[in-house]
Amino acid sequence: MSHAFQQCIHPDCQATFDLNQILTACEKCGSLLDVQYDWDQLPVPKSLKDFERRWSNRLNPLDFSGVWRFRDLLPFPKDSDIVTIGEGQTILQQNDRLAKHVGMDAGRLFLQYEGLNPSGSFKDNGMTAASTHARMVGAKMTACASTGNTSASLAIYAGVSGLFQCVVFVGSGKIAYGKLSQALDYGATTLQIKGDFDDALARVREVCAEHPIYLCNSVNPFRLEGQKTIMFRVLEGLGWEVPDWIVVPGGNLGNSSAFGKAFMELKKLGLIDRIPRLAIINAAGAGTLDDLVNNKDLQWNDGRNDADIIRSYYASMDADDRRASTLASAIEINRPVNLVKALRALTICDGVVRSVVDQQIVDARALIAANGFGCEPASGATIAGLQQLREEGVIAASDRVACVLTGHQLKDPDLTVAYHTGDPEKQAEKLHPAGVHLTPHANSPVVVENDKHAILKALGLG
Ligand SMILES: *Cc1c(COP(=O)(O)O)cnc(C)c1O
Ligand SMILES: [Zn+2]
Repeated sequence: MSHAFQQCIHPDCQATFDLNQILTACEKCGSLLDVQYDWDQLPVPKSLKDFERRWSNRLNPLDFSGVWRFRDLLPFPKDSDIVTIGEGQTILQQNDRLAKHVGMDAGRLFLQYEGLNPSGSFKDNGMTAASTHARMVGAKMTACASTGNTSASLAIYAGVSGLFQCVVFVGSGKIAYGKLSQALDYGATTLQIKGDFDDALARVREVCAEHPIYLCNSVNPFRLEGQKTIMFRVLEGLGWEVPDWIVVPGGNLGNSSAFGKAFMELKKLGLIDRIPRLAIINAAGAGTLDDLVNNKDLQWNDGRNDADIIRSYYASMDADDRRASTLASAIEINRPVNLVKALRALTICDGVVRSVVDQQIVDARALIAANGFGCEPASGATIAGLQQLREEGVIAASDRVACVLTGHQLKDPDLTVAYHTGDPEKQAEKLHPAGVHLTPHANSPVVVENDKHAILKALGLG
């Protein structure tokens, strides 16, 4: 008998399901599912510091993995079921130069750099866990809808493990080239749906409901178990001290949901004594959570959140044919599937939601790259959001803040080049329609003749 199971998050239902059932929603009421554990029956570490003993055992792939070295806190698989490709070798980078730019004290701003994962985004934290469950249930085919990184991640796990085929559904025209190239390169069957991400997700859910295909979007509760470990690594990077704030971009809200669950469990298990606050940052062109929480007063309300508010919001979105629109393609999502879990996370973490416009996003992205490891546009939303919350005084200069940089800089080079080169054609095509007209952090290339004297002159040496 396993001490892990699946459970409906609705407090009036709480139906439980076997670990090996393939579900993406409660069969009784349709709510989202959590993976839950009989913690009393499981060996739980006494202190987070206990995980440090795994550092000296790096030749064991499970102890090397930045996800599975915390496997006692996501104990659903047997060790032999785990599918790992060395994910989660990330860095928590203290960044004082960026801190200065956003008005924070030295030593207080940290960047959790998830671009270092094998496929270049945090999605690998979740996909290692989903792939593990897919293996446990004997799945032969896996699928996902994606704005790009989910497909890159699923494709790499399917390709490297060779355990299953994979199909990825992407919207037309919207996907960043770096991400599309990965799905193709790793050998995924790639379906370009004539629609956007929200359409692609709706279609993949229809297909997976009718056929034995294992769905790897973040409605999959096992994926979120893996994503909890991003927060474990933040704590690890801070010597197991809890920061004051976590800042994360919000798209489908899987990360936000996973982080809330992670802290809820750590607190319950007595492994932390307080929970950090959470700031979820939407792109203004995809600001469903921001709008619902800050303008429509939608709250978790102990699981009895007002479903009518959500329903009527989506109905008016449909009536106006309102589509998500932002340069931060990874968060260009208007119907976040983990909305209700994110409301729970906001309650657990005393969280706030903000949205930032594309001008703020691309400027913050460039600022991060000029002072840190760089990231893709969606990750830039974190620093743009932090800047806004500093101006509002919600986050103090002395608060200790960890911002999650979700994806690698090289995922979306087109946008970066358009920003820096000032190429009028590219800017008119990419930046201007999104309302971006200023490029204060541009670092334009200098065009010179193929001649030593001209080069020295350009360098101020001649
Ligand atoms: C998927 C993704 C997001 C959005 O994360 P959610 O968990 O869906 O909110 C943000 N940034 C990047 C780079 C992503 O790939
Ligand atoms: Zn239910």
